[in-house]
Amino acid sequence: TAIAERTSCAGVDDVISPLIPVVGGTTTVPLVDGTQVIYANLDYAASAPALEAVAARVTEVLPLYASVHRGAGYLSQVSTALYESSRQSIARFVGAREDDVAIITRNTTDSLNLLAGVVPAGGRVLVLDVEHHANLLPWVHSRPGQGHSATILPIARTVAETLQALADELARQPYALVTVTGASNVTGESLPLDRVIEIAHAEGARVAVDGAQLVPHRGFSLAESGADYVAFSGHKTYAPFGAGALVGRRDWLDAGTPYLAGGGAVRDVRTDRTVWQPAPARHEAGSPNVIGAIALAEACEQLAALPAGALHAHEQALRDRLVTGLSGIQGVEVARIWPDSDEPVGVVTFTVPDHDPGLVAAYLAAEHGIGVRDGRFCAHPLLAHLGATGGAIRASVGVGTTSEAVDRLVTALSAYLSAGA
Ligand code: PLP
Repeated sequence: TAIAERTSCAGVDDVISPLIPVVGGTTTVPLVDGTQVIYANLDYAASAPALEAVAARVTEVLPLYASVHRGAGYLSQVSTALYESSRQSIARFVGAREDDVAIITRNTTDSLNLLAGVVPAGGRVLVLDVEHHANLLPWVHSRPGQGHSATILPIARTVAETLQALADELARQPYALVTVTGASNVTGESLPLDRVIEIAHAEGARVAVDGAQLVPHRGFSLAESGADYVAFSGHKTYAPFGAGALVGRRDWLDAGTPYLAGGGAVRDVRTDRTVWQPAPARHEAGSPNVIGAIALAEACEQLAALPAGALHAHEQALRDRLVTGLSGIQGVEVARIWPDSDEPVGVVTFTVPDHDPGLVAAYLAAEHGIGVRDGRFCAHPLLAHLGATGGAIRASVGVGTTSEAVDRLVTALSAYLSAGA
């Protein structure tokens, strides 16, 4: 609590960053005037910088690099043990139950496509129209041989009404799965997961959580929430690109046909038949991303070791500072999906009417060394819902974000608009 209290006031930068430093936290970048400034990274929602501990761990294990599962040599055995213990760390980080299975994937997109491929034949999937494309397209574009069909439910004006619409739709016809974001990559908001899970389970549907923006920032537990699946990405969880995870109920994963066929996924192959392994091997054909899994596991361990509530308080203080600063600038509008949603994670999207988001973002980068993102954030239906079909600007925070970076954005944007650019 002491740490949470400290992070809620001005000393926000002094608490988290030294506990869990990121690589390149003080990288300088050139400005158009030829000077250099420390990069203000406000794009954690896209990809977060790796932790220093993760970089150290990767360097440590690189000499042990060897093929896993199939080699008899010493290094193969060490690599196999490291890979499998990484799987356990990753599963533990998202509160996996004893009989859950953790599959090492490439990222959240890969995880959700994998899950889409194992929904039992004929199963209906319910998805809201606020989702990132990664949690929308795998459901509506089922591949040949996949048996599911999807309904896209439009969100309502409030959280309460949206939950009611969800309950009504689930009561109207049976669903195998409801798949929801744990935190929107556009506004940081979500529906209350406990309510979604309660409503879905009452109607016999499972729940998958797109944890890409939730897991690295708030943590998540399958066991505590009762959710059935969670997907997340290493590169948003302070590890390098290329490793992610799908964790959850074993039965569908043991029964579903893998979308990636090849060595390691099979128990026995004849010319006329293939006997697949159970999960996780069934869904990890080919040589896996061993170093990526070890790096992700290290990031999970580091995040799990932070004092309870500290990260949440750090990000909340930064988000509040950002929203207050942006709201004070004439013409800037902070996007919000629902007026009654719970506290969002540290992702803030805003529009500057009559200004091209791409030009504003380019100005912030070139003149102030600020990294934000502009566009439609792989969530086109949501941006349309927010009235921002022309795109918007997104700033997002994480462990290495400083209040100076937030203040720099607010000051630069004010200067840009008051100059009548
Ligand atoms: N879901 C959400 C909420 C996201 O923010 C993202 C990435 O921005 C994804 C899914 C897809 O993640 P990845 O690109 O790592 O597969």
